[in-house]
Amino acid sequence: MDQQLLTVNHLKKYFPIKGGILGREVGQCKAVDDVSFSVKKGETLGLVGESGCGKSTTGRAILRLIEPTAGQVMFQGKDVTQMTDDQLRRARRDMQMVFQDPFASLNPRHSVGRILEEPMIVHQIGSSKERKERVMHLLDVVGLDASHVRRYPHQFSGGQRQRIGIARALAVHPQLIIADEPVSALDVSVQSQVLNLMQDLQKEFDLTYIFIAHDLGVVKHISDRVGVMYLGRLVELTNKDKLYDNPKHPYTQALLSAVPTIDPDGDRRERIILQGDVPSPANAPAGCAFHTRCSHAMEICRAVRPALQDTGSEHFVACHLYN
Ligand code: SF4
Repeated sequence: MDQQLLTVNHLKKYFPIKGGILGREVGQCKAVDDVSFSVKKGETLGLVGESGCGKSTTGRAILRLIEPTAGQVMFQGKDVTQMTDDQLRRARRDMQMVFQDPFASLNPRHSVGRILEEPMIVHQIGSSKERKERVMHLLDVVGLDASHVRRYPHQFSGGQRQRIGIARALAVHPQLIIADEPVSALDVSVQSQVLNLMQDLQKEFDLTYIFIAHDLGVVKHISDRVGVMYLGRLVELTNKDKLYDNPKHPYTQALLSAVPTIDPDGDRRERIILQGDVPSPANAPAGCAFHTRCSHAMEICRAVRPALQDTGSEHFVACHLYN
């Protein structure tokens, strides 16, 4: 578990804001603004934060489904951001994505058999006979029936469709799966089935996950470490027990205070109500981006951006309270 599979250095994704009659660039939306972290082989890193915090954009920029503006993404010792199209196509065999809405990501006109075989055709894996055998194996692995191979996506429930999405990601024997809100569209009972399936598959196939979600309970269930994002920045990163038992960043403390806990001692966290709305990433506050909503904000917070620093035992926090 010590070997780093993925290292993200100073990743940025800025979207241009166009305006005026000529459609000139009048500003930038900083969806991901200098994010760095690494993921060890075999671990699950959860990325959490409110809608618009940049967690999904981070996932897509790692795979270059959208082009990063700057930064480095080292995967198995190679920088993904510098790869040619051909190198990227080969690397994507090892890095797959599972999307939030499996219905939108599965071609409605293709049978499940074709959907699962297609990635193997693209990556030239196996003979036709071997691919068809693997399709049947994948259906079995994700808990679907062999008879489902000829069905179409609309003939499945949401949970079954997500199983198909996971099977499709597994088809090419990936090392890393980036799962972007994979269970948030599912009923709670189905969520736990899909999470359990992902954990079983991780053990069986030695997978590494980046698990993106807004639901802190879901992230806790599946993650080894958790990164909390706010306005395109990583504000806290540590192992899940430290994060949930002893959150250090005021934003993480507020997020966790809103999560209901069942504590036998009746020891409940005091609810912290955040003031104001999340500022727009097109106009992020200077200094600490959280200072407009933070009850601990100091003079320095309005001027100087806090770096993500180790506060001890690999508990990284970006907050001037810990300098
Ligand atoms: Fe609050 Fe300042 Fe820490 Fe930002 S740096 S979270 S404003 S105390």
